[in-house]
Order: sequence, then C-alpha cells, then structure tokens
Amino acid sequence: MSRGVLPGTSGQEGIIRIFGRVLKKGLLAHAYLLIGPPGETRALALSIAKLLLCESPDLEGAVPRPCGICRGCTKFRHQVHPDLECIEANGAMIKIDQIRDLQRSLAFSPLEALRRVCLIFDAQKMNPSAANAFLKTLEEPPAGTYLILTATSVRVLLSTIVSRCQVLHCSPLRPAELIEIIKKQGLCPCGSEHFLAYLSEGSISQARELVERNVLSIRERLFRFLGTQKEKAIPMLFILSKEMSGDRDDVLIVVRLIRSLVRDMIVLKGRGERKSIGPPVINSDHQVLLERLSYLFGLQDLVEYSQWLDRAEGLLACNVSREFLLESTLIFWIQGLNYPLSCNIQAL
Ligand SMILES: [Zn+2]
Repeated sequence: MSRGVLPGTSGQEGIIRIFGRVLKKGLLAHAYLLIGPPGETRALALSIAKLLLCESPDLEGAVPRPCGICRGCTKFRHQVHPDLECIEANGAMIKIDQIRDLQRSLAFSPLEALRRVCLIFDAQKMNPSAANAFLKTLEEPPAGTYLILTATSVRVLLSTIVSRCQVLHCSPLRPAELIEIIKKQGLCPCGSEHFLAYLSEGSISQARELVERNVLSIRERLFRFLGTQKEKAIPMLFILSKEMSGDRDDVLIVVRLIRSLVRDMIVLKGRGERKSIGPPVINSDHQVLLERLSYLFGLQDLVEYSQWLDRAEGLLACNVSREFLLESTLIFWIQGLNYPLSCNIQAL
C-alpha cells in the first residue's frame, strides 16, 4: 500500500484511486487514517465509505465510483445504512461511552453489506480514555469491519493509533487547481474565485462551506461599509457587528475576510506605480476601492492591524463578546474614512 497521493492528481482523487485499486485486488486494510483539513477529510471519508458500501462499484474507470442506484448506495444517500457507523465529537470531545457503544455494535456481523464501515471524524478529539479504549478495536478489528479515521495531523494522535493505520495525506489543492474547480462548479460569481480560493486554504469542501455561510454577501457588505462616508459608516459599524456576530465561525470568517483585504492593501502599497509587480490581489474584483484605501492607511498601521486580527482570532476562543470584538475590529477603518478621499470612495 503506497502512502500519500498519486502524482498528478488532486489529493482526494488520488486517494479514491488507491481505494479502487485495493478493492479490486482484495487488499483492503482494516484501518485508514486520513490526514488533512477537517472539511476535506470528512468529505473524503464519506466518499470512501460510499464506495465500500456500494454493492456494484465501478472499479474500471479512471476514478472508481459507487453505482449510485444499488440498495447500499440508496441507503447511504438517505443516511440509513445499517452498516455505516459515524463517530464524532459530542461537544468538544469524543467520549469513552461513544467508543463503548461502537464496540457493542461492532460485535455483530455486517447486516446488509459485504463489510461494515466505521468513520471516526476528528479522531484527535478522542479524550485519553476513549483513545485507549479505541486502541483495542484497532488492534483486533472484528471481521468485516473497516475503520476510517480523520485527523488534522499525525502529531495530534497517540502514536499507537497512528502505527495501526494506513496513513493517507489529503494534501491541499494548489491555488490554480482550486480556482479551476471553483469555476467549474460555479461556486461564486466571476471575478471572486481568487478570493474564495484564498480563504478556502486549498480545500474545495471549505470553499463550499464558506459559500453556504454567505461569505460572498458578507464580503459585499464589508466593501459597502469601506466605501461609505464616515457619518454613515459609524451606524453601519454597529449594525454589521451585531448582524455578523451570530456564532464563533461567523466572526472567524469576517476576521479572515478582513485579513484578505489588509493583505491586498499591503500588496498594493508595495506595488506603488509598478502596477503589475508583486503577488496577485486576492480581492481583484474590488481592486479600485482597495487601491484608494491603501493610500489612506500607513504600512505600519496595516501591519499592526494584522497583528490585532491575529489577537482577535485568539480572543474568539475565550469568553469575549463577539459583537464587541467585531466593533473593536471594524473601528480601525473609521479613522481612514476620516480622510477627504473617502468622499471619492463613495462614488466607486
Ligand atoms: Zn451502489
């Protein structure tokens, strides 16, 4: 069994091909560990489970695929397959009771499929007693049972767990690859692909999740805020902070989004008159406004603000008011909008 991904393929597709090969040869191992971004590895684990539970998968094509119509595929689609077990954190941790329940259900043979598939999402969230109990299942998995674990890194797991699994790295997509997929899938309006790819950090599932969380409309609201005059911007700041502070992930998206703007402004400042030099602008569809804004703030201000954004991300893990945190983050822009140039920005 080779480790890692096949050369020349995206991480996910390469790993699916590996599973096609081992299925064909009857060499399926009992435990796999998928390492990578949580959204990516989760989607991949589900794709593999669907392939393993399909009664008639196509293993001859370039990429192996479940048939999509058999009893196994139908039950998988409706999330009622009796031979699929999914374990994930209940709260912050995967607890020992969840592992014991799993062990009890694994004591029986698969009910309908050739095999039983058990997915452990974010295995690093197993607390120490759960991880130790799970080791017993890994050491002697019941016949016909296949375990697929996901984790962000091998370093966050017990070495005894890692050593009992086939480790597969779900590598992030290259920016150009991701932009291509985003375009093909029509995930965002033309011109926003660079931005979405940047924020998704090489993960198409992350890109989809960001779109579902309305990242594009949040970005448009932020740009409207940045393009307004100071008098209007102040009440707008309070409205935005209130409406965008729904949960921790919402605020995290806003902070990361603002970081992308600041990053672009620093790039544009570095370019000066040499327009085509330097790294690409992520928010290229709003470059005119960003150029104007980059004149309003000093480089040192932007660097210090970036440091504040890092701190804000850290503070989100603490018990702070998300609304207040956003207000404190957005207030930075008001000082820039004080300059006379803001009148011109209004017209952009
Ligand atoms: Zn099928």
